[in-house]
Amino acid sequence: MIMEGKVGIVMGMANRFSIAHGIGKSLKQNGATSVFTAQTDTFKAKIDDIALELGGMESVLCDVSKDGSICEAFEKISRNLGRPIDFVVHSIAYSDKNELSGKYYDTTRENFLNTMNISCYSLTEICRCIRPFMSDNGSIVTLSYYGSEKVVPNYNVMALAKSALETSVMYLAKDLGEYGIRVNSISSGPIKTLAASGIGDFSKILDYDANRSPLKRNVTQKDVADACVFLLSDMSSGITGENIHVDCGCSNIGVSF
Ligand code: NAD
Repeated sequence: MIMEGKVGIVMGMANRFSIAHGIGKSLKQNGATSVFTAQTDTFKAKIDDIALELGGMESVLCDVSKDGSICEAFEKISRNLGRPIDFVVHSIAYSDKNELSGKYYDTTRENFLNTMNISCYSLTEICRCIRPFMSDNGSIVTLSYYGSEKVVPNYNVMALAKSALETSVMYLAKDLGEYGIRVNSISSGPIKTLAASGIGDFSKILDYDANRSPLKRNVTQKDVADACVFLLSDMSSGITGENIHVDCGCSNIGVSF
């Protein structure tokens, strides 16, 4: 129960396969109350049952690509809760799936900017909007991927967004440190989700990782969720600006036989 008495926001649950769903479950098991946000009315209709089950409240609409949507959602949630927010989970990414296969250089300017906006800039705006509502030992966690460090076939423009996201984590940690707020990212190994299904040859990435991983398996939703809850809890009070790999050790393997 390392999150006993804490309340916070989980962004990016599309369905039960979402990493955000695993995080919501682990948060509940550890004593926290979570409010979920939903990108659209369609997503809201799909996740409200889960949001009620895991947090006792219907989800709140928030499309991070729309001006004012993030601050508006946080104001609403904060008013409803009537107390400071202890944590935020940013589990959001988007890129046109037609550009998540083939050559990176074929990325269009429009999709480059949109991918950066939704998958990276949104975290910066989230940090700016949540600060006035956050408790003085708040914690924010985002989700990244190894494609930011080494070339992974088909990850393409999303890799650039993840590199920028990991760098923003360091700068945001610096900005928010004086308010006692910590910001970290988790570099998760591959997990079958809606977003992942848009990446070309994703099942090959899963197989490749499972074979070369020191643990000889793929990471699970629960592996990532529990690590995230640790970073959201006071158990990680001295950790900020970090990118922590939760990938069964894959990122440390150079050559594998
Ligand atoms: P998912 O499809 O379940 O979640 C992605 C979420 O992003 C969805 O809920 C979607 O509604 C949300 N989103 C997209 N555009 C949005 C917008 N404009 N406004 C608000 N929300 C928006 O997939 P997931 O795999 O759980 O992805 C969660 C995070 O984990 C992403 O950042 C992803 O890059 C990261 N990640 C996933 C894997 C993996 O293999 N699944 C590995 C490493 C990192």
